[in-house]
Amino acid sequence: MDRKNRQEFDLFKIAGVQIAIDYSWLVIFVLVLWSLSAGYFPEVHPGYPTSEYWIVGIVGTFLFFASIVIHELSHAIVGNSLGQPVKRISLFIFGGMAHLGHEPTDANAELKIAAAGPLTSFVLGVFFFWIPTLLGFRHGHPMWASVFDYLGFINIALGLFNLLPGFPLDGGRILRAAVWARTGDFRRATARAADWGRGSRGA
Ligand SMILES: [Zn+2]
Repeated sequence: MDRKNRQEFDLFKIAGVQIAIDYSWLVIFVLVLWSLSAGYFPEVHPGYPTSEYWIVGIVGTFLFFASIVIHELSHAIVGNSLGQPVKRISLFIFGGMAHLGHEPTDANAELKIAAAGPLTSFVLGVFFFWIPTLLGFRHGHPMWASVFDYLGFINIALGLFNLLPGFPLDGGRILRAAVWARTGDFRRATARAADWGRGSRGA
């Protein structure tokens, strides 16, 4: 099925996966850029020229969305390697989405594809926290250090948020894969995972 949406425009292809942007994403892009450059950094690090807040804000915003693309790309790369093709990733106002070509066909693959995203976010988060120390600017450039701390925090938060056990979050898919592997019943597993998402644990 062609999921291409007319509200989207294509950005670029990476590892055979088309990265696309929904127009609603522009809202969140401006919001993140504005809140970093005109809110967060001037508040936490007063006394810098305005232009530097915006440079730091642009770098932070770019890496923020790159983090989301990398998270989605990890689902796509694992999916493509396990015969669950993902050819398209969309960024929209609530984040990113990797479009599966068809319903998952085996529980083990579903588990790996779903788990890849939060794992990638955790690794990215630790990496971003480490960058200022690795490159030796943690004390010399505190505002730049705090961009990377912010990105570290965002990625850890993104990983944790995606582990919540509700559809269509990764946690819901992991839960479904676990129930599916145990019962061998995809439809029952889907219903159970949807119940968890609504807060009712069922019987
Ligand atoms: Zn994910």
